[in-house]
Amino acid sequence: MTLMHTTLAAVALTGLALPLTAYADPCKVEISGNDLLQYDKQELAVPATCKEITVTLHHAGKQPREAMGHDWVLVKTPDLTAVDQAGLGAGLANNYLPSGDKRVLAHTKVIGGGETTSVTFSAAILRKGGDYSYLCTFPGHSALMHGKFKFG
Ligand code: ZN
Repeated sequence: MTLMHTTLAAVALTGLALPLTAYADPCKVEISGNDLLQYDKQELAVPATCKEITVTLHHAGKQPREAMGHDWVLVKTPDLTAVDQAGLGAGLANNYLPSGDKRVLAHTKVIGGGETTSVTFSAAILRKGGDYSYLCTFPGHSALMHGKFKFG
């Protein structure tokens, strides 16, 4: 009798946990940058079933965007260095990104310490299993601030 009771309680607890995990939308991911030129994640992954993807970027540091700005820019991995180079001359007003550059698949604006921003884009631009990376295009940051973006 006691055993059965325990089993029922365990089932009830599991049942409670399910709706909570269901709230976490796998198509919405978050990442943070800090004052030490670091993202808190080396990799982001979303399932290929996503129609739209939202990436939220937090700046957990204290430095202003002029000194330690961070953005989140999605590219095909082979384009990473070229996009970073092209962004250098664009300036902070343009989020260190060349305007209209097709190699930029998605990006946030550049933010400073304590700020949060996000970008939502259609997953139709991505190919399942494709080789994608993200980087911060603030000058000098991408060597440390980059990671892999997995779709599917
Ligand atoms: Zn940065």
